[in-house]
Amino acid sequence: MGVRCSQCHTVFSLEEEGTEHHACPTCKAEAGLEPVTGVPPAMRMFGAVLGLVVLVAIAGDLVSRIAG
Ligand SMILES: [Zn+2]
Repeated sequence: MGVRCSQCHTVFSLEEEGTEHHACPTCKAEAGLEPVTGVPPAMRMFGAVLGLVVLVAIAGDLVSRIAG
């Protein structure tokens, strides 16, 4: 599981799950560590837009083929 330090924004992974105390390897902060879940929203948005563009391109190609 990855976590992000809210103080220096370093993203690192926790080696041992279930350990009570975690500390940031960069600034040694033990508080304000937020779990990182999957893909960042900005990246997800980019993927959605890219998918939409590809979909429109395929649809446009099909329509132009059918229309002759
Ligand atoms: Zn830190």
